[in-house]
Amino acid sequence: MEEIYVTKPVLPPMEEYVEYLKDIWETHNLTNVGKYTKQLMRELMAFMDTNHCLPMVNGHMALEMTLQAMEMQGEVITTPFTFASTTHAIIRNGLTPVFCDIKESDCTIDPDKIESLITDKTVAIVPVHVYGMPCDVEKIEAIAKKHNLKVIYDAAHAFGEKFYGKSVAKYGDACMFSFHATKAFNTIEGGLAIVHNTPTLTKVYQLHNFGIMDEENVEFVGANAKMNEFQAIMGLCNLKHFEENRLKRKKLFDYYRERLSKVKGIKLLEYDEENVELNYTYCPIFVDKDEYGMDRDVLNQLLLEQHIHARKYFYPITSQFNCYKEMNFRGDTPIAERLSKEVLTLPLYTDLEMDTVKLICDIIEGR
Ligand SMILES: *Cc1c(COP(=O)(O)O)cnc(C)c1O
Repeated sequence: MEEIYVTKPVLPPMEEYVEYLKDIWETHNLTNVGKYTKQLMRELMAFMDTNHCLPMVNGHMALEMTLQAMEMQGEVITTPFTFASTTHAIIRNGLTPVFCDIKESDCTIDPDKIESLITDKTVAIVPVHVYGMPCDVEKIEAIAKKHNLKVIYDAAHAFGEKFYGKSVAKYGDACMFSFHATKAFNTIEGGLAIVHNTPTLTKVYQLHNFGIMDEENVEFVGANAKMNEFQAIMGLCNLKHFEENRLKRKKLFDYYRERLSKVKGIKLLEYDEENVELNYTYCPIFVDKDEYGMDRDVLNQLLLEQHIHARKYFYPITSQFNCYKEMNFRGDTPIAERLSKEVLTLPLYTDLEMDTVKLICDIIEGR
């Protein structure tokens, strides 16, 4: 039997990519914010309803350089229930992460626990729309306003989503998307910085090209995080198919939830289905060992025996990474810790067969 992985990158029809390649072979323009990167930037601005974005080499550098451009020093309140990138980006900027616990219902940062973590050193909040679930944006932004903090969303999972009728890109002072192969929309590797303050976005632009202002003037200690033209044309192709692919995944997502919501001891994410438009890229389940009768790792093994590779996203939580062993992080996160031991993210991608989803549900139901 074929191995089924948690995800499989979306590719456009090959002819569409080849058409663009022909032009690149004509012009020999391969990178350095070329015409296709600019075109992608314009199309994404329209798609996301924003005037302030920059395509970059990957999502991580978009986050790291957005934080750098804000020139902050001190503590950043964030979530440990995320991919390594979020915490690394904070620490690589010399900032100190302070970990806030998450909500049991949707795994996003718990806004009711943010204020008790604020000190006179706090400068920003970096929440994550984890699994594409909307953070409690209104509460977070009210707290930020009251305490004069910046809000930078890690929106790596939330491409193309709308919360309460508004593009996800509109929230916070800034946000970042990942266009990695495994995400809802890909440019092979890639990412997008959205920064609403124009001088700060200009600074991200300069940082992403070594801090070079002109031939004789290097103003900032930047690095290289430019998107190249091969990435950009993949984005132009994939963007055309985004909505059709999203709706294919919605069918699978809805089926999973319909079946699995009835299984005792299996919990699903709770969100406001009326007012949140997801991109349907993740289907995490949470296994309550006592109610379900087996723990997450045993269920994972059962699936593996049937060639189904689910993943423990996100385990361990980032604050427990080996590389941070010596750090004495502030912040208690018992809910994040427990959920990271219960979570199993099931296969979900555009070309996944409905029959495979049915098989996975059968295994979880224990038939
Ligand atoms: C994928 C991801 C990133 C990093 O994006 P890359 O494009 O892989 O660099 C950051 N944060 C989260 C939550 C992610 O899942």
